[in-house]
Amino acid sequence: MMAKYSKNIYEQMVLAAKKAYPNECCGILVGKKSEQSEIEVTEIREAENQFQGQKSVHFKIDPLYLYHVEQELDPRGLEIVGVYHSHPDCPAILSKEDEKYMLPGLEYVIMSVQNGEVVDVKSYKKAMPPLNSNN
Ligand SMILES: [Zn+2]
Repeated sequence: MMAKYSKNIYEQMVLAAKKAYPNECCGILVGKKSEQSEIEVTEIREAENQFQGQKSVHFKIDPLYLYHVEQELDPRGLEIVGVYHSHPDCPAILSKEDEKYMLPGLEYVIMSVQNGEVVDVKSYKKAMPPLNSNN
């Protein structure tokens, strides 16, 4: 099931993707998760692409930054519910690397940016594995 997005969230992500082009943009989706794991995105946080090297095909978010965001969100009853990033001049599909680093339960939004314009937006979610009760 796809996440729900508050007004303007989509526009903010598109703007970030256009601004970062020809590099990848990346950021965090902030919101709430219901008991049925339904996600509602209420705000986004732009993050610096920390990847050392070719930023047009890779992105990396500083784990310390994630930690600080979490600390700040906690008292407000909000949490990190997903990640967004862009694929400059590439389709909005998960790369091998994206798939490898995907965390279950989080919403992953990928935007395809062609010639500086966002032409496609897709979101992905990895199923939460069943809890292992043996340990
Ligand atoms: Zn990617």
